[in-house]
Amino acid sequence: MTEVERHTYDVVVIGAGGAGLRAVIEAREQGLSVAVVCKSLFGKAHTVMAEGGCAAAMGNANEKDTWQTHFQDTMRGGKFLNNWRMAELHAREAPDRVWELETYGALFDRTPDGRISQRNFGGHTYPRLAHVGDRTGLEIIRTMQQKIVSLQQEDFAATGDYEARVKIFAECTISELTKDGDRISGAFGYWRESGRCVLFEAPAVVMATGGIGKSFKVTSNSWEYTGDGHALALRAGANLINMEFVQFHPTGMVWPPSVKGILVTEGVRGDGGVLKNSEGDRFMFSYIPPVFKGQYAETAEEADRWYEDQENNRRTPDLLPRDEVARAINTEVKEGRETPHGGVYLDIASRMPAEEIKRRLPSMYHQFKELADVDITKEQMEVGPTCHYVMGGIEVDPDSGSSNVPGLFAAGECSGGMHGSNRLGGNSLSDLLVFGRRAGLGAATYVKSLPARPVVADGDVDAASRMLLSPFEPQGDAGALENPYTLHTELQQTMNDLVGIIRTAEEVDRALRTLDDIKRRIDSVVVEGHRQFNPGWHLAVDLRNMVLVSECVAKAALLRTESRGGHTRGDHPAMAAQWRNTLLVCAVDAAVAGRADVVVPDVQVTSEPQSPMRPDLLALFDIDELAKYYTDAELAGQPGRKT
Ligand code: FAD
Repeated sequence: MTEVERHTYDVVVIGAGGAGLRAVIEAREQGLSVAVVCKSLFGKAHTVMAEGGCAAAMGNANEKDTWQTHFQDTMRGGKFLNNWRMAELHAREAPDRVWELETYGALFDRTPDGRISQRNFGGHTYPRLAHVGDRTGLEIIRTMQQKIVSLQQEDFAATGDYEARVKIFAECTISELTKDGDRISGAFGYWRESGRCVLFEAPAVVMATGGIGKSFKVTSNSWEYTGDGHALALRAGANLINMEFVQFHPTGMVWPPSVKGILVTEGVRGDGGVLKNSEGDRFMFSYIPPVFKGQYAETAEEADRWYEDQENNRRTPDLLPRDEVARAINTEVKEGRETPHGGVYLDIASRMPAEEIKRRLPSMYHQFKELADVDITKEQMEVGPTCHYVMGGIEVDPDSGSSNVPGLFAAGECSGGMHGSNRLGGNSLSDLLVFGRRAGLGAATYVKSLPARPVVADGDVDAASRMLLSPFEPQGDAGALENPYTLHTELQQTMNDLVGIIRTAEEVDRALRTLDDIKRRIDSVVVEGHRQFNPGWHLAVDLRNMVLVSECVAKAALLRTESRGGHTRGDHPAMAAQWRNTLLVCAVDAAVAGRADVVVPDVQVTSEPQSPMRPDLLALFDIDELAKYYTDAELAGQPGRKT
């Protein structure tokens, strides 16, 4: 039997990005003991990489901004597929969460009169993103770490032990959730450095593991984003929703190949940068879709005036929601108007003085100078779409963050519903704060309500360690053994080429056949060496999750025969109203849920109706706008009103 280090907590938070840290703070403030486990270094999470800012209707840059407008923009951005209750909570609570961060010690950029400054971003009616230059995520993580240290100091004063209530387990990967009957009983994993197994016994787990980008070849995501939380939850019996909606950010670097996919923040366009094709045309004016007609400037002159006078001009179509801009770039490239390295140009150099660019976009300046030898104060950038964010994730109760598995909560990018079919830029950082807090609170309330703690069965721990260590002793003939790197490359290429920015039934069918083949071969993955820091083994463990999550994306993408937000079907290019209130739900068979010995279970996809939007929220929209998304039958009883 493998030796296993054991710890006992009230709540285990898996992931130390924005969602995880905000959940830790809340659960600890409720008086519970909390472990935070992260597979990267503490402080290294996607949240740190967030550049542009955090959306919150504080009304500092334009006092007309309200939570209602933020709610409307979010629903429009998600093409009305969002969980409206989540969008409501998010819009209402985001300003408080930003102000609260300042009480923890954050310092956002200021307006001349000393208020938190807010910048423009795609799909937001008013300048709404609170920011710290283009390093906003770094400030948010730094601040929440500082808050955790201050809570630990309080705990030291009370108990003599800094880690009495909050302890950080960094570079530790969770590979399995354990259950007692239908309830969560803990989380099992391993230390990446030593390879030693570790078990956290806890009645509540908050999943905050971020995204799935590493299943795609070209991505802005870094190595940790292998869909672990999505897969662990699914394997434990939770539902995933909206998995067909994957956001391809319009502007990733395209050159040199070693940095292809690295993000170029939307803040460049928010601050005045414009997209151009190889013929020098500002092509976005030709791509305003019917649902947004009338809301965006139709000439370059009006678009440019908008940066100075937003009252009397319409916003530039360079700032349409990301799905629209990514598709437009894709078309320009396909039709031959591409740059030398297969992208389009993003020009800020001709739009403002060099010093202003360096002041507003310091990270972008350094990123291009150091990685591509391009001086963005003098030259145009070359950019193209990159897999960036997954809208789909664990289905949760909006108010408490609980999943359908008792004791399992989720927040942040690994949860689903909030962003519908497409997330607006800046709405992730605010999502992490709003729903990280709610999940921490939900988990604490749940733990306090339990009559007895669930128990981890020894058999489950054995099964989890056998599965974890199986790549050292794989099944199959020596000649048929598989290399994890080869399988990963095949997976990424398949998802990129066949389930990418534009998909057809024929392509997704082919992808599913390849995924089946990879699933069959994954049992035979072998790794060399020992458990001590062994990246090949780590990848073999993550691969299970990537394959499972990719199957969810592909199966849901095949079923949704329309194009909406982050899901574009080349063979069904239009949005279809009857799909708006249909969610596709991924689940694994109840008979295999919770079994660590099933390497990659099969995914079933079923439909679930959206719950109808509360009338007071629906009344915020003009009936003519709703008619672009809703069926006639749904609108039959609606008065034509607007607040
Ligand atoms: P993350 O911050 O991704 O953290 C996930 C955590 O989970 C990490 O600690 C990781 O180590 C841990 N983890 C994962 N798997 C395991 C496991 N098996 N065991 C243990 N730990 C695990 N959004 C905005 O709103 N505004 C922006 O300006 C913005 N800019 C962005 C720029 C870039 C380059 C990128 C990539 C994203 C950007 N986003 C932005 C999106 C946003 O940053 C992410 O969606 C968000 O940070 C996700 O936060 P999270 O807390 O859900 O997870």
